[in-house]
Amino acid sequence: MTLPNRDAAVIWHPFTQMHTAPLPIPISRGEGSLLFDVNGRSYLDMISSWWVNLHGHAHPYIAERVSQQLRILEHVIFAGFTHEPAVELAERLLPILPANQRRVFYSDNGSTAVEVALKMAFQYWHNIGQPRRRVIALEGAYHGDTFGAMSVGGRSAFSAPFAPFLFDVDYLPVPVPGQESTVLALAETLFADDVAAFIVEPLVQGAGGMVMYAPEILNTLMEMARKQGALLIADEVMTGFGRTGKLFASHYLTIQPDLMCLSKGLTGGTMALGVTTCTETVYDAFLSDSAYKTLFHGHSFTANPLACAASLASLDLLLSAETQASIQRIAARHELFADTLKKCQAVENVRQLGTILAFDLKVAGESSSYFSSIRDLAYNYLLDRGVLMRPLGNVLYFLPPYCTTDEQLEEAYETVLGLVHKLTLPLLSSYIAE
Ligand SMILES: *Cc1c(COP(=O)(O)O)cnc(C)c1O
Repeated sequence: MTLPNRDAAVIWHPFTQMHTAPLPIPISRGEGSLLFDVNGRSYLDMISSWWVNLHGHAHPYIAERVSQQLRILEHVIFAGFTHEPAVELAERLLPILPANQRRVFYSDNGSTAVEVALKMAFQYWHNIGQPRRRVIALEGAYHGDTFGAMSVGGRSAFSAPFAPFLFDVDYLPVPVPGQESTVLALAETLFADDVAAFIVEPLVQGAGGMVMYAPEILNTLMEMARKQGALLIADEVMTGFGRTGKLFASHYLTIQPDLMCLSKGLTGGTMALGVTTCTETVYDAFLSDSAYKTLFHGHSFTANPLACAASLASLDLLLSAETQASIQRIAARHELFADTLKKCQAVENVRQLGTILAFDLKVAGESSSYFSSIRDLAYNYLLDRGVLMRPLGNVLYFLPPYCTTDEQLEEAYETVLGLVHKLTLPLLSSYIAE
């Protein structure tokens, strides 16, 4: 039996309607920005394998550091014990985060990093004896798939079955260009002295469709929230580690968050690890002679030494002059391609920040319900031509590993242009009928 057939007999895939999904593509290895299937076909990974990969697949330096660590200490309980990679990683992370971040709490993925931030925020208010319950989030936000993370995410078809079990959150529309004053007016009414936390994906909402908004308006909103005492949570699970052109999206802001959530690129995409950081003020609210003020939260694989070693190796690479230059090189290439895209009929809302380039596919005269099939059409068109991209509805985006070469970028751009031109043909249906 082939690998996909064996898979089909025993596996349930994420975000996949198993009844209708085609068999999965069996990947045997990866190198740089390329993935190879068992038949030797290659795929350009233009989405960094769900936004986690920074330096390319199977990076030899990360592999070496992780295998060294594996021979020294694979894991140890993190309550009552510590180890070098966890301490060193915290020591190296804090100086590159906004200056007010003082403590690192480890977990093991992006959703749990968010859960921890929410629990820190709620318990902060509990511990200081001024319970606050209200959370403000942005419409269309995505903060993960666990219940707390889902609760603060935008409500959608994905969360509908769980709606009765999610806690209530007040939403602000995303302050995209042109909407700022509307959002500000609403924010005036929403931010009050009972708000526990204001959570955002700073500057780029990932899963919501790579929706981008300006640092100025986010600064203003964060300032309004802070005036009311609310804790500010920056979910940088996707935007962190250079994606936006700076090390963290928060570096575009003058207002610093109280809590930050990191994961995805943290390990260079090698292993699962989550980090929640906070200010001294938040941390201090948990210090007490009373055990009841403890943050009672932890995971079996908290601060896994292998994942910390991968993160340390990834940081070495990320902070190197070469990678920093690559990030700027990709951003500059994206900018040029954005100009090309803006001239295309089937394209609208071209937007870019750093290494992230996104646009909407538009097909004149088609109903919006039709967009879901545009997604499949685009996905398959690109995949058939060896380019892995995963449109979010009708939003197509590039989020490549930083090692992606100019030639690889050009290849992906050209393939996308081919798709866009195809969609510009008078009748999309003629293409589908092909
Ligand atoms: C992916 C993502 C998460 C969830 O991370 P997982 O590791 O998939 O649980 C949370 N927040 C943001 C902004 C994300 O993009």
